[in-house]
Amino acid sequence: MDIQLDKAPCGYFSISDSGIILTVNQTLLDMLLYERHELLGRHIESVMSVTNKLFFHTYFYPYIQMHGHVNEMYFSLRTNSQQDLPVLLNGIRQQRDGETVIDCVAVVMRKRIEHERDILHSKTKLEELYQATNEANHKLEALHEEYEVKQQELLRINLQLETMASTDPLTGLHNRRFFQVSLLALLLSFRETEKPFSLLIIDIDHFKRINDTFGHPAGDAVLVHLARLLESMASDTDIVARFGGEEFVVILPGTDEDTALLTAERYRSAIANSPCGEHNITVSIGASTVRRGDTDETLLHHADTALYASKSSGRNRVTHSNHLVPASD
Ligand code: GH3
Ligand code: MG
Ligand code: MG
Repeated sequence: MDIQLDKAPCGYFSISDSGIILTVNQTLLDMLLYERHELLGRHIESVMSVTNKLFFHTYFYPYIQMHGHVNEMYFSLRTNSQQDLPVLLNGIRQQRDGETVIDCVAVVMRKRIEHERDILHSKTKLEELYQATNEANHKLEALHEEYEVKQQELLRINLQLETMASTDPLTGLHNRRFFQVSLLALLLSFRETEKPFSLLIIDIDHFKRINDTFGHPAGDAVLVHLARLLESMASDTDIVARFGGEEFVVILPGTDEDTALLTAERYRSAIANSPCGEHNITVSIGASTVRRGDTDETLLHHADTALYASKSSGRNRVTHSNHLVPASD
């Protein structure tokens, strides 16, 4: 063997068709930690692990018999110190000096295998990361859904609280707080548009007698009865509220003095003609209509003064503050 082949940068060996080692170069001997005389004449399978022997039998031999060559076969040789040495094997089956020989070159693959191992490791790590990201995403989605549900619940509770804060618990009408806010809003709009509106204060006559005679629950029933009557008579834009005790207020948007009086009279007579069970009830009403310069206080004061006039002139009647002499301011 010439020196170039003997010291070539890859292992070289040739075997007979039956696998007996005929030639081996120094590079391969160095790779496998053998002396030349130890390998020549031996069977090539003696430098293989059992698994690789099997592989050699079932793949290498049949393939090279059929095609005459084998290219880039990954393979492991076994060194003299019983270590597996990964190699890339190319083989060619050819005639030389009247005999069939198989020439092979083997290139050590340790680097590549380490590289493949690194790639595999990175791939596993990536898959783990991907899985963790997936799980985190699912958790995030679940949290997001939970957050949406809680948010809806909060909105519902807020709405409930808002309604509760502006509703009279006994009658279900708007309460005094809601009435005050509505009154201020209408006053603001009046200052811009001068569109009139009126206010009624409705007070049950001799209500105390019902409580005293029939008890507080009977009084409560009368309050609820009156609330339903007022609601049924009010238009969509009217605002009916319980002002406190047995006093109710109605804001009549877009209503001037004359219409306010007519509306109040309609309320009064309907109430007088709708007994609550065995109780006949009447109400006294004070009305006021907004004028330039009015505030919520003056409007309420005017209606209250008119109510007082209705009471003192015999009850079960309606008075508009504009009809009081002298006008009370
Ligand atoms: P007037 O004709 O002058 O208005 O006489 P009145 O008896 O209706 O008026 P007064 O102010 O003397 O009495 C009002 C009563 O209303 C006193 C109070 O106990 C009662 N009252 C206030 N709030 C409630 C309530 O929520 N339920 C019941 N049952 N009674 C109430
Ligand atoms: Mg009263
Ligand atoms: Mg009363």
